[in-house]
Amino acid sequence: MGFVHCPHCDSASHVVETRRAADGAVRRRRECASCGRRFTTYERYELARLFVRKRDGERQPFDRAKLRDALLRAAHKRPVPADQIERLVDRIERELRDAGGELSSRRIGELCLIGLRELDAGAYLQFAGVFDPAISGSPDRSGSVRPASKDAELPAKAASKRGTDG
Ligand SMILES: [Zn+2]
Repeated sequence: MGFVHCPHCDSASHVVETRRAADGAVRRRRECASCGRRFTTYERYELARLFVRKRDGERQPFDRAKLRDALLRAAHKRPVPADQIERLVDRIERELRDAGGELSSRRIGELCLIGLRELDAGAYLQFAGVFDPAISGSPDRSGSVRPASKDAELPAKAASKRGTDG
């Protein structure tokens, strides 16, 4: 890290005191080596903001906890370890960052489906039913994300529970 220039004369400054501010920022009291004036700087982490673009075009901040809840709900009573879900959430968040911080809700749903399909067919169908009833309702519809062929034989038991989720 380089030094911080004095706002008055642009010379190098040194830190005379470091404290943590109430909001978690690092507050440094600095003194100019040249003119002797003191000033204060704050350092904060800049968290990359991630967004989900909804179907109506509205942008919403990406809610990691909400995504995890939705996936856990889909995997409820299925033999899917919670840490696998956590890893899937990590993967989706990474995709979001790689895409420049914004993806459509549709795309995020697809990523969830792709991930769940690798983990458990029942969880996949459950999520598909919530995400898009058309998918679980008619698995043969072309152009949609579909279960792998052998999974298509599964009874729609998991998907039929979706009524409770709205
Ligand atoms: Zn100065």
